[in-house]
Amino acid sequence: MSYAKSIIDDIFGGIRPAARALDRSASTIQGWHEAGTIPQKHWNDIIEAAKAHDAYLTPQDFFESAAPAAASFGYGFKQPHCLSIDDFHRPDIETLLSLGDHYLDLGVQKNPDRSTLRGKTLINLFFENSTRTEKSFELAGKRLGADVISMQVATSSVKKGETLLDTAATLNAMNPDILVVRHGSSGAPALLAQKVGCSVVNAGDGMHAHPTQALLDALTLRRAFAAKGEDGQIDGRRIAICGDILHSRVARSNVKLLNRLGAEVRLIGPPTLLPTDVDRWGVEVFHDMEKGLDGCDVIMMLRLQLERMSGAFVPSKREYFHFYGLDRAKLAFAKDGAFVMHPGPMNRGVEISSDVADDPEVSLITQQVETGVAMRMGILHALSAAQDGASS
Ligand code: ASP
Repeated sequence: MSYAKSIIDDIFGGIRPAARALDRSASTIQGWHEAGTIPQKHWNDIIEAAKAHDAYLTPQDFFESAAPAAASFGYGFKQPHCLSIDDFHRPDIETLLSLGDHYLDLGVQKNPDRSTLRGKTLINLFFENSTRTEKSFELAGKRLGADVISMQVATSSVKKGETLLDTAATLNAMNPDILVVRHGSSGAPALLAQKVGCSVVNAGDGMHAHPTQALLDALTLRRAFAAKGEDGQIDGRRIAICGDILHSRVARSNVKLLNRLGAEVRLIGPPTLLPTDVDRWGVEVFHDMEKGLDGCDVIMMLRLQLERMSGAFVPSKREYFHFYGLDRAKLAFAKDGAFVMHPGPMNRGVEISSDVADDPEVSLITQQVETGVAMRMGILHALSAAQDGASS
């Protein structure tokens, strides 16, 4: 089938619906259908209109050799793992965000459909403590019908000296479909992914990456902008990520994703808490909250990660709060109506004051947790669909 036919039939549902969606005459669309090609000047309109059908096309889809497009969720998502934002193309990201949106719309509490992951096994393997991430993967897996096991590393043989790779071999023998891993060392989930025969999700590795947090943050923002009656896009928004950037995997994944989605990303923090290679991150760097927050639509605060610090990175928590803690006075430097985010857990009175964190007018912190479950359902759904596609 030609790409033109597949776009017209599979995405828009035929010539007439495509004509309506694109505001063109049916005979024009029929011409494309018969020719099998679409003139380049129409590609952008088609890419835009296809989004309403949950299809995320790129210009590459308009070449003869392109795979047929389809409107179903998860289509085209062929990634075996979720290890880093770097592994995803824009259509992968849009598919994941759409799936997260879909589960948020369904209302995660009441979602009656537990068939998506029925018969599949998800193992949570957390070598570092977690409240939100581990529980949200557990809930997401259960809500989609998977059998979920959460390994308590403290009581497992990992504590008795078993190496990461021995653990991988043991878990692999249980034939899981998805392994969700958090580990204190950067690269551990990627190493496991090479050793096991299932999908691996990185739930945070050292200071390296936390891709599912970045995806849930992007989805939270899109929904928050849309709820304000604005266009729900991240493109062109000025977003400041503030605080302990050096030790933060959340910052690293968010910078990559937000840059990819077209945001203007700024980092604000003391020089001791900024990585030495920050000039290659594609961001503007500030050491002063007043200057850095100027005109910002969003302020993402980060936890001071004391457990990853050897030595003194800040003089005292009190002084840190004075210069970098977000309170009402510093919030006023940002745009009116700016949103505040924090991935949790929060150190109240160290990086953020309680009256800002708890103000529902500005704080999206509770929404981030709620969106986390839906976004992780979307990620599990996409990986499972990719597995089924690969085996069929
Ligand atoms: N929960 C996030 C993480 O796992 C942020 C933090 O711990 O500060 O990286």
